[in-house]
Amino acid sequence: MSTGPIPERVDHRKLANQAGLIEGTLPIQCFHRFGEMLVVSEGDVYLRLEFSKGDFGSTSVNGSAATEVCLICQNCMQQFRRQVSCDVALQVVSDESKLERLSEVDDAIVAPDKVISVAELVEDELILAMPMIPRHEEGQCLETDYEQQEIVLQEVQKVQEAQTTYRPFADLAKTIDKQNT
Ligand SMILES: [Zn+2]
Repeated sequence: MSTGPIPERVDHRKLANQAGLIEGTLPIQCFHRFGEMLVVSEGDVYLRLEFSKGDFGSTSVNGSAATEVCLICQNCMQQFRRQVSCDVALQVVSDESKLERLSEVDDAIVAPDKVISVAELVEDELILAMPMIPRHEEGQCLETDYEQQEIVLQEVQKVQEAQTTYRPFADLAKTIDKQNT
């Protein structure tokens, strides 16, 4: 496995003709939109991309991207690191008129120029692979989660003390409403 740096821009037509493979790393700074989502945009993205000739003069790009990012846990507001990885399967076409002819299952990028940015090929997929709400893995979060559970438990106990019969958890809100009126 090669982990050396790869060029920021490549000639996708030439690579497709050669059935070329690019494998290695690009700095996260090359991924502008993705980098903006991170606390620290340092580190590398590891890429492995195979190029081949697609239908109607397009270039097929298949492979994967992976990196480790620094995020803020929305539970405890502490920084944590996590792996983000994605698969890449797309077609590069020279103009929009070719899009209609491609199969709908493939993602496509329109690039009039034969030299394209490698980061742009995978950036959308990397962004989609990011967690919607960054949080520590269960059991690794040191803060509020645990405290919140304690409060809920106390509420349940209060309700149980007030009632002689046990109420299922789902009825808790209803039960509290009744007590307040
Ligand atoms: Zn946390």
